Amino acid sequence: MEFSLPSPCPCGRIHPVPSYEILTGRGVVRALPEKLARRALRRPFLLYDRNTAPFADEVKAALSSAGMDFSFYGFPEAELAPDERAAGSLVMRFDPRCDAVVAVGSGVLNDLGKLLSSLTGRPYAIVATAPSMDGFASATSSMDRDGLKVSLPTRAADLILGDTAILREAPEIMLKAGLGDMLAKYVSIMEWRISHLINGEYYCEEVAGMIRAALRKCVEEEDALLRREESAVEAVFEGLVLGGVAMLLAGVSRPASGVEHYFSHIFDMRHLAFGTHAELHGIQCAAATGIAADLYRKALLLTPDREKALAYARGFDREDWNRRLRRLIGPGAEAMIALENTEGKYDLRKHEARLETILSRWEEITAIIREELPPKETLDGILSRLALPESVKSLSDPATLREIFFATKDIRDKYVLSRLLWDLGELEEIEVGSL
Ligand SMILES: [Zn+2]
Ligand SMILES: [Zn+2]
Repeated sequence: MEFSLPSPCPCGRIHPVPSYEILTGRGVVRALPEKLARRALRRPFLLYDRNTAPFADEVKAALSSAGMDFSFYGFPEAELAPDERAAGSLVMRFDPRCDAVVAVGSGVLNDLGKLLSSLTGRPYAIVATAPSMDGFASATSSMDRDGLKVSLPTRAADLILGDTAILREAPEIMLKAGLGDMLAKYVSIMEWRISHLINGEYYCEEVAGMIRAALRKCVEEEDALLRREESAVEAVFEGLVLGGVAMLLAGVSRPASGVEHYFSHIFDMRHLAFGTHAELHGIQCAAATGIAADLYRKALLLTPDREKALAYARGFDREDWNRRLRRLIGPGAEAMIALENTEGKYDLRKHEARLETILSRWEEITAIIREELPPKETLDGILSRLALPESVKSLSDPATLREIFFATKDIRDKYVLSRLLWDLGELEEIEVGSL
Protein backbone atom coordinates (compact mmCIF):
# COMPACT_ATOMS: atom_id res chain seq x y z
CA MET A 1 0.00 0.00 0.00
CA GLU A 2 1.49 3.29 -1.10
CA PHE A 3 0.73 6.87 -0.18
CA SER A 4 2.45 10.10 -0.98
CA LEU A 5 1.88 13.78 -0.40
CA PRO A 6 3.18 16.63 -2.53
CA SER A 7 6.45 18.06 -1.28
CA PRO A 8 6.45 20.80 -0.28
CA CYS A 9 2.85 20.45 0.78
CA PRO A 10 0.43 23.36 0.18
CA CYS A 11 -0.20 23.33 3.96
CA GLY A 12 3.31 24.72 4.36
CA ARG A 13 4.75 21.71 6.13
CA ILE A 14 7.28 19.14 5.17
CA HIS A 15 5.48 15.99 6.24
CA PRO A 16 7.51 13.20 7.80
CA VAL A 17 7.97 10.15 5.61
CA PRO A 18 6.47 7.16 7.46
CA SER A 19 9.05 4.45 7.92
CA TYR A 20 6.71 1.50 8.02
CA GLU A 21 5.93 -0.93 5.28
CA ILE A 22 2.32 -1.92 4.70
CA LEU A 23 1.33 -5.02 2.79
CA THR A 24 -2.30 -5.86 2.07
CA GLY A 25 -3.91 -8.56 -0.05
CA ARG A 26 -4.44 -12.27 -0.15
CA GLY A 27 -1.57 -14.39 1.18
CA VAL A 28 0.72 -11.52 2.27
CA VAL A 29 1.34 -13.29 5.59
CA ARG A 30 3.67 -15.63 3.71
CA ALA A 31 5.94 -12.67 2.98
CA LEU A 32 6.71 -12.24 6.69
CA PRO A 33 9.92 -14.36 6.88
CA GLU A 34 11.41 -12.64 3.86
CA LYS A 35 10.49 -9.18 5.18
CA LEU A 36 12.10 -9.96 8.53
CA ALA A 37 15.20 -11.43 6.91
CA ARG A 38 15.59 -8.36 4.75
CA ARG A 39 15.84 -6.35 7.97
CA ALA A 40 18.49 -8.82 9.23
CA LEU A 41 16.02 -10.16 11.81
CA ARG A 42 16.45 -13.84 12.58
CA ARG A 43 14.22 -14.86 15.44
CA PRO A 44 10.83 -13.21 16.01
CA PHE A 45 8.80 -13.45 19.22
CA LEU A 46 5.11 -14.06 18.47
CA LEU A 47 2.25 -13.06 20.71
CA TYR A 48 -1.39 -13.98 20.23
CA ASP A 49 -4.42 -15.06 22.25
CA ARG A 50 -6.88 -17.92 22.15
CA ASN A 51 -8.93 -16.33 19.36
CA THR A 52 -6.00 -15.60 17.11
CA ALA A 53 -4.11 -18.85 17.78
CA PRO A 54 -5.25 -20.46 14.47
CA PHE A 55 -3.78 -17.52 12.55
CA ALA A 56 -0.62 -17.67 14.67
CA ASP A 57 -0.33 -21.27 13.44
CA GLU A 58 -0.30 -19.95 9.87
CA VAL A 59 2.46 -17.51 10.79
CA LYS A 60 4.45 -20.26 12.52
CA ALA A 61 4.07 -22.48 9.44
CA ALA A 62 5.32 -19.68 7.18
CA LEU A 63 8.33 -19.09 9.44
CA SER A 64 9.13 -22.80 9.73
CA SER A 65 8.97 -23.39 6.01
CA ALA A 66 11.40 -20.51 5.53
CA GLY A 67 13.69 -22.15 8.09
CA MET A 68 13.31 -19.29 10.58
CA ASP A 69 13.37 -19.97 14.35
CA PHE A 70 10.90 -18.25 16.63
CA SER A 71 9.58 -18.14 20.20
CA PHE A 72 6.01 -17.36 21.21
CA TYR A 73 3.51 -16.69 23.93
CA GLY A 74 -0.15 -17.45 23.41
CA PHE A 75 -2.36 -15.81 26.02
CA PRO A 76 -4.81 -18.44 27.23
CA GLU A 77 -7.58 -15.82 27.38
CA ALA A 78 -10.09 -15.08 24.68
CA GLU A 79 -10.98 -11.69 26.20
CA LEU A 80 -7.73 -9.96 26.99
CA ALA A 81 -7.62 -6.62 28.84
CA PRO A 82 -4.69 -4.29 28.04
CA ASP A 83 -3.70 -3.99 31.68
CA GLU A 84 -0.80 -4.58 34.10
CA ARG A 85 -1.49 -8.29 34.29
CA ALA A 86 -1.35 -8.87 30.54
CA ALA A 87 1.68 -6.61 30.10
CA GLY A 88 3.41 -8.28 33.04
CA SER A 89 2.87 -11.84 31.84
CA LEU A 90 4.00 -10.87 28.35
CA VAL A 91 7.25 -9.33 29.62
CA MET A 92 7.89 -12.38 31.80
CA ARG A 93 7.40 -14.70 28.82
CA PHE A 94 9.58 -12.72 26.44
CA ASP A 95 12.53 -14.66 25.06
CA PRO A 96 15.54 -12.32 25.06
CA ARG A 97 17.12 -14.25 22.19
CA CYS A 98 14.44 -12.80 19.94
CA ASP A 99 15.29 -9.77 17.81
CA ALA A 100 11.76 -8.87 16.65
CA VAL A 101 8.22 -8.76 18.06
CA VAL A 102 5.31 -10.01 15.94
CA ALA A 103 1.74 -9.66 17.22
CA VAL A 104 -1.00 -11.73 15.64
CA GLY A 105 -4.24 -9.94 16.43
CA SER A 106 -5.83 -6.51 16.38
CA GLY A 107 -6.82 -4.10 19.20
CA VAL A 108 -5.42 -5.32 22.51
CA LEU A 109 -2.73 -7.60 21.08
CA ASN A 110 -1.51 -4.77 18.88
CA ASP A 111 -1.32 -2.45 21.90
CA LEU A 112 0.59 -5.07 23.87
CA GLY A 113 2.87 -5.84 20.93
CA LYS A 114 3.77 -2.16 20.50
CA LEU A 115 4.46 -1.93 24.24
CA LEU A 116 6.72 -5.00 24.25
CA SER A 117 8.54 -3.78 21.16
CA SER A 118 9.18 -0.38 22.69
CA LEU A 119 10.33 -1.90 26.03
CA THR A 120 12.70 -4.36 24.38
CA GLY A 121 13.83 -2.08 21.55
CA ARG A 122 13.00 -4.82 19.03
CA PRO A 123 11.38 -3.95 15.68
CA TYR A 124 7.67 -4.65 15.50
CA ALA A 125 5.41 -6.34 12.98
CA ILE A 126 1.65 -6.78 13.23
CA VAL A 127 -0.22 -9.54 11.44
CA ALA A 128 -3.72 -8.10 11.60
CA THR A 129 -6.55 -10.53 12.22
CA ALA A 130 -9.42 -8.02 12.09
CA PRO A 131 -9.97 -4.66 10.40
CA SER A 132 -11.52 -3.42 13.63
CA MET A 133 -9.75 -0.24 14.78
CA ASP A 134 -7.32 2.42 13.63
CA GLY A 135 -4.32 1.76 15.89
CA PHE A 136 -2.26 -0.26 13.40
CA ALA A 137 -0.04 2.59 12.28
CA SER A 138 -0.02 4.66 15.46
CA ALA A 139 2.90 4.92 17.86
CA THR A 140 0.86 4.71 21.06
CA SER A 141 -0.72 1.93 23.09
CA SER A 142 -4.11 2.38 24.66
CA MET A 143 -3.79 0.69 28.07
CA ASP A 144 -5.66 0.35 31.37
CA ARG A 145 -3.31 1.48 34.13
CA ASP A 146 -4.38 1.62 37.77
CA GLY A 147 -7.92 1.32 36.50
CA LEU A 148 -7.55 4.33 34.21
CA LYS A 149 -7.42 4.49 30.43
CA VAL A 150 -4.04 5.85 29.33
CA SER A 151 -2.40 6.30 25.97
CA LEU A 152 1.26 5.33 26.36
CA PRO A 153 3.83 6.46 23.83
CA THR A 154 5.24 3.18 22.47
CA ARG A 155 6.32 2.65 18.88
CA ALA A 156 4.75 2.34 15.46
CA ALA A 157 4.89 -0.93 13.59
CA ASP A 158 7.77 -1.41 11.18
CA LEU A 159 5.71 -3.84 9.19
CA ILE A 160 1.92 -4.06 8.90
CA LEU A 161 0.47 -7.15 7.23
CA GLY A 162 -3.20 -7.17 6.29
CA ASP A 163 -3.80 -10.57 4.74
CA THR A 164 -7.32 -10.39 3.35
CA ALA A 165 -7.74 -14.18 3.60
CA ILE A 166 -7.24 -13.78 7.39
CA LEU A 167 -9.05 -10.46 7.81
CA ARG A 168 -12.23 -11.72 6.12
CA GLU A 169 -12.50 -14.45 8.78
CA ALA A 170 -12.82 -11.84 11.56
CA PRO A 171 -15.96 -12.01 13.72
CA GLU A 172 -18.76 -9.97 12.15
CA ILE A 173 -18.83 -7.54 15.07
CA MET A 174 -15.19 -6.63 14.34
CA LEU A 175 -15.92 -5.94 10.67
CA LYS A 176 -18.72 -3.66 11.82
CA ALA A 177 -16.43 -1.98 14.32
CA GLY A 178 -13.87 -1.26 11.61
CA LEU A 179 -16.45 0.45 9.43
CA GLY A 180 -17.70 2.30 12.51
CA ASP A 181 -14.24 3.67 13.20
CA MET A 182 -14.08 4.83 9.57
CA LEU A 183 -17.51 6.54 9.74
CA ALA A 184 -16.10 8.64 12.59
CA LYS A 185 -13.90 10.34 9.98
CA TYR A 186 -16.90 12.29 8.66
CA VAL A 187 -16.93 14.09 11.98
CA SER A 188 -13.18 14.27 12.58
CA ILE A 189 -12.39 15.97 9.25
CA MET A 190 -15.31 18.38 9.72
CA GLU A 191 -14.20 19.35 13.23
CA TRP A 192 -10.62 19.75 12.09
CA ARG A 193 -11.75 22.30 9.48
CA ILE A 194 -14.03 24.07 11.96
CA SER A 195 -11.24 24.44 14.49
CA HIS A 196 -8.89 25.63 11.75
CA LEU A 197 -11.41 28.34 10.96
CA ILE A 198 -12.21 29.36 14.54
CA ASN A 199 -8.85 28.84 16.27
CA GLY A 200 -6.41 28.96 13.37
CA GLU A 201 -5.42 25.41 14.22
CA TYR A 202 -3.06 23.77 11.73
CA TYR A 203 -4.93 21.97 8.93
CA CYS A 204 -3.76 20.06 5.87
CA GLU A 205 -6.20 19.67 3.00
CA GLU A 206 -4.04 16.96 1.41
CA VAL A 207 -4.20 14.77 4.53
CA ALA A 208 -7.93 15.46 4.88
CA GLY A 209 -8.44 14.53 1.21
CA MET A 210 -6.60 11.26 1.72
CA ILE A 211 -8.96 10.31 4.55
CA ARG A 212 -12.06 11.42 2.63
CA ALA A 213 -11.05 9.20 -0.30
CA ALA A 214 -10.46 6.20 1.98
CA LEU A 215 -13.82 6.76 3.68
CA ARG A 216 -15.61 7.05 0.34
CA LYS A 217 -14.17 3.71 -0.73
CA CYS A 218 -15.36 2.04 2.50
CA VAL A 219 -18.85 3.47 2.09
CA GLU A 220 -19.04 2.36 -1.56
CA GLU A 221 -18.11 -1.18 -0.54
CA GLU A 222 -20.27 -1.15 2.58
CA ASP A 223 -22.74 -3.87 1.55
CA ALA A 224 -19.90 -6.14 0.39
CA LEU A 225 -18.22 -5.92 3.78
CA LEU A 226 -20.74 -8.07 5.62
CA ARG A 227 -20.60 -10.56 2.76
CA ARG A 228 -16.90 -10.71 3.65
CA GLU A 229 -15.75 -9.80 0.16
CA GLU A 230 -12.03 -9.29 0.23
CA SER A 231 -12.08 -5.98 -1.66
CA ALA A 232 -14.39 -4.48 0.99
CA VAL A 233 -12.42 -5.94 3.89
CA GLU A 234 -9.26 -4.54 2.33
CA ALA A 235 -10.84 -1.10 1.85
CA VAL A 236 -11.72 -0.91 5.55
CA PHE A 237 -8.34 -2.22 6.64
CA GLU A 238 -6.49 0.24 4.41
CA GLY A 239 -8.70 3.09 5.58
CA LEU A 240 -7.96 2.29 9.21
CA VAL A 241 -4.22 2.04 8.57
CA LEU A 242 -4.39 5.30 6.66
CA GLY A 243 -6.06 6.91 9.69
CA GLY A 244 -2.91 6.19 11.66
CA VAL A 245 -0.67 7.30 8.81
CA ALA A 246 -2.62 10.56 8.53
CA MET A 247 -2.16 11.27 12.24
CA LEU A 248 1.56 10.78 11.83
CA LEU A 249 1.69 13.01 8.74
CA ALA A 250 -0.31 15.76 10.41
CA GLY A 251 1.28 15.34 13.84
CA VAL A 252 -2.17 15.52 15.46
CA SER A 253 -5.05 13.09 15.95
CA ARG A 254 -7.43 15.42 14.05
CA PRO A 255 -7.65 13.40 10.81
CA ALA A 256 -8.96 10.32 12.62
CA SER A 257 -10.87 11.36 15.70
CA GLY A 258 -13.33 13.97 16.88
CA VAL A 259 -16.16 14.31 19.36
CA GLU A 260 -17.47 10.80 18.57
CA HIS A 261 -14.18 9.31 19.78
CA TYR A 262 -14.57 11.31 22.99
CA PHE A 263 -17.94 9.70 23.60
CA SER A 264 -16.16 6.37 23.18
CA HIS A 265 -13.37 7.40 25.59
CA ILE A 266 -15.93 8.27 28.23
CA PHE A 267 -17.79 4.97 27.77
CA ASP A 268 -14.41 3.27 28.35
CA MET A 269 -13.55 5.42 31.37
CA ARG A 270 -16.91 4.75 32.97
CA HIS A 271 -16.50 1.05 32.26
CA LEU A 272 -13.19 1.04 34.12
CA ALA A 273 -14.37 3.23 36.99
CA PHE A 274 -17.87 1.87 37.54
CA GLY A 275 -18.12 -1.36 35.55
CA THR A 276 -20.73 0.10 33.20
CA HIS A 277 -21.23 -1.54 29.80
CA ALA A 278 -18.66 -1.08 27.03
CA GLU A 279 -18.48 -2.24 23.42
CA LEU A 280 -15.64 -2.52 20.91
CA HIS A 281 -14.03 0.85 20.18
CA GLY A 282 -15.37 0.99 16.62
CA ILE A 283 -18.90 0.01 17.66
CA GLN A 284 -18.91 2.83 20.22
CA CYS A 285 -17.58 5.19 17.56
CA ALA A 286 -20.29 4.13 15.10
CA ALA A 287 -23.05 4.78 17.62
CA ALA A 288 -21.51 8.10 18.66
CA THR A 289 -21.06 9.19 15.03
CA GLY A 290 -24.83 8.85 14.60
CA ILE A 291 -25.41 11.00 17.69
CA ALA A 292 -22.81 13.58 16.66
CA ALA A 293 -24.20 13.86 13.13
CA ASP A 294 -27.67 14.45 14.55
CA LEU A 295 -26.31 17.16 16.87
CA TYR A 296 -24.49 18.85 13.98
CA ARG A 297 -27.70 18.92 11.97
CA LYS A 298 -29.40 20.61 14.93
CA ALA A 299 -26.50 23.06 15.21
CA LEU A 300 -27.18 24.12 11.62
CA LEU A 301 -30.54 25.46 12.76
CA LEU A 302 -29.09 27.71 15.47
CA THR A 303 -28.92 31.47 15.21
CA PRO A 304 -25.88 32.60 17.20
CA ASP A 305 -26.70 35.24 19.80
CA ARG A 306 -23.85 37.27 21.28
CA GLU A 307 -25.64 38.30 24.50
CA LYS A 308 -26.91 34.81 25.22
CA ALA A 309 -23.44 33.34 24.68
CA LEU A 310 -21.71 35.91 26.89
CA ALA A 311 -24.26 35.50 29.68
CA TYR A 312 -23.94 31.70 29.56
CA ALA A 313 -20.13 31.82 29.80
CA ARG A 314 -20.31 34.32 32.69
CA GLY A 315 -22.77 32.14 34.55
CA PHE A 316 -20.86 28.90 34.00
CA ASP A 317 -20.01 27.45 37.41
CA ARG A 318 -16.73 25.58 37.05
CA GLU A 319 -16.73 24.15 40.56
CA ASP A 320 -20.17 22.71 40.06
CA TRP A 321 -19.13 21.33 36.68
CA ASN A 322 -16.04 19.67 38.18
CA ARG A 323 -18.28 17.92 40.70
CA ARG A 324 -20.46 16.67 37.84
CA LEU A 325 -17.36 15.45 35.99
CA ARG A 326 -16.12 13.51 39.01
CA ARG A 327 -19.53 11.92 39.43
CA LEU A 328 -19.72 11.00 35.75
CA ILE A 329 -16.21 9.73 35.14
CA GLY A 330 -14.70 8.86 38.52
CA PRO A 331 -10.95 9.19 39.17
CA GLY A 332 -10.26 9.83 35.45
CA ALA A 333 -11.91 13.23 35.86
CA GLU A 334 -8.93 14.63 37.77
CA ALA A 335 -6.69 14.75 34.69
CA MET A 336 -9.44 16.52 32.75
CA ILE A 337 -9.91 19.08 35.51
CA ALA A 338 -6.15 19.66 35.72
CA LEU A 339 -5.99 20.16 31.96
CA GLU A 340 -8.30 23.16 32.19
CA ASN A 341 -5.87 24.84 34.61
CA THR A 342 -3.25 25.00 31.88
CA GLU A 343 -5.59 25.41 28.93
CA GLY A 344 -8.03 28.03 30.16
CA LYS A 345 -10.79 27.33 27.67
CA TYR A 346 -13.34 28.77 30.12
CA ASP A 347 -11.39 32.02 30.40
CA LEU A 348 -13.93 34.75 29.61
CA ARG A 349 -11.58 36.86 27.49
CA LYS A 350 -10.57 33.87 25.37
CA HIS A 351 -14.22 32.94 25.04
CA GLU A 352 -15.14 36.42 23.84
CA ALA A 353 -12.43 36.33 21.20
CA ARG A 354 -13.57 32.93 19.92
CA LEU A 355 -17.18 34.05 19.97
CA GLU A 356 -16.46 37.07 17.76
CA THR A 357 -14.85 34.76 15.19
CA ILE A 358 -17.77 32.34 15.37
CA LEU A 359 -20.30 35.15 14.93
CA SER A 360 -18.51 36.71 11.99
CA ARG A 361 -17.83 33.38 10.28
CA TRP A 362 -20.98 31.46 11.14
CA GLU A 363 -21.91 31.07 7.47
CA GLU A 364 -18.56 29.50 6.71
CA ILE A 365 -18.88 27.18 9.71
CA THR A 366 -22.29 25.97 8.60
CA ALA A 367 -20.98 25.57 5.05
CA ILE A 368 -18.27 23.23 6.35
CA ILE A 369 -20.87 21.19 8.22
CA ARG A 370 -23.02 20.93 5.08
CA GLU A 371 -20.04 19.93 2.97
CA GLU A 372 -18.56 17.30 5.25
CA LEU A 373 -21.62 15.73 6.84
CA PRO A 374 -23.13 12.96 4.71
CA PRO A 375 -26.85 13.22 3.91
CA LYS A 376 -28.97 11.96 6.81
CA GLU A 377 -30.37 9.08 4.71
CA THR A 378 -26.88 7.93 3.76
CA LEU A 379 -25.51 7.75 7.28
CA ASP A 380 -28.74 6.45 8.82
CA GLY A 381 -28.91 3.82 6.05
CA ILE A 382 -25.39 2.57 6.75
CA LEU A 383 -25.96 2.53 10.51
CA SER A 384 -29.21 0.63 10.18
CA ARG A 385 -27.70 -1.91 7.76
CA LEU A 386 -24.77 -2.29 10.16
CA ALA A 387 -27.37 -3.36 12.74
CA LEU A 388 -25.30 -2.46 15.76
CA PRO A 389 -25.97 -4.93 18.57
CA GLU A 390 -28.94 -4.24 20.82
CA SER A 391 -26.46 -4.04 23.73
CA VAL A 392 -25.26 -0.64 22.41
CA LYS A 393 -28.29 0.78 24.20
CA SER A 394 -26.77 -0.26 27.52
CA LEU A 395 -23.78 2.04 26.99
CA SER A 396 -25.74 4.83 28.61
CA ASP A 397 -29.22 5.95 29.57
CA PRO A 398 -30.42 9.18 27.87
CA ALA A 399 -29.78 11.47 30.88
CA THR A 400 -26.23 10.18 31.31
CA LEU A 401 -25.62 10.40 27.58
CA ARG A 402 -26.45 14.10 27.73
CA GLU A 403 -23.95 14.51 30.57
CA ILE A 404 -21.38 12.52 28.59
CA PHE A 405 -21.79 14.84 25.63
CA PHE A 406 -21.18 17.86 27.89
CA ALA A 407 -18.04 16.18 29.24
CA THR A 408 -16.60 15.61 25.75
CA LYS A 409 -15.48 19.25 25.82
CA ASP A 410 -13.10 18.48 28.69
CA ILE A 411 -11.43 15.28 27.50
CA ARG A 412 -8.44 16.87 25.78
CA ASP A 413 -7.54 20.26 24.42
CA LYS A 414 -9.31 19.65 21.11
CA TYR A 415 -12.00 22.01 19.91
CA VAL A 416 -15.02 19.81 19.18
CA LEU A 417 -18.79 20.28 18.79
CA SER A 418 -19.49 20.47 22.52
CA ARG A 419 -17.02 23.36 22.79
CA LEU A 420 -18.58 25.20 19.89
CA LEU A 421 -21.99 24.83 21.55
CA TRP A 422 -20.57 25.92 24.91
CA ASP A 423 -19.12 29.00 23.21
CA LEU A 424 -22.57 29.75 21.78
CA GLY A 425 -24.30 29.24 25.14
CA GLU A 426 -26.34 26.45 23.52
CA LEU A 427 -24.69 23.38 25.04
CA GLU A 428 -27.28 22.63 27.69
CA GLU A 429 -30.23 23.49 25.47
CA ILE A 430 -29.54 21.28 22.48
CA GLU A 431 -31.33 17.97 22.56
CA VAL A 432 -28.97 15.00 22.63
CA GLY A 433 -30.38 11.95 20.83
CA SER A 434 -30.38 8.46 22.24
CA LEU A 435 -28.43 5.32 21.47
ZN1 LIG B 1 0.19 19.11 4.17
ZN1 LIG C 1 -10.72 5.08 16.42
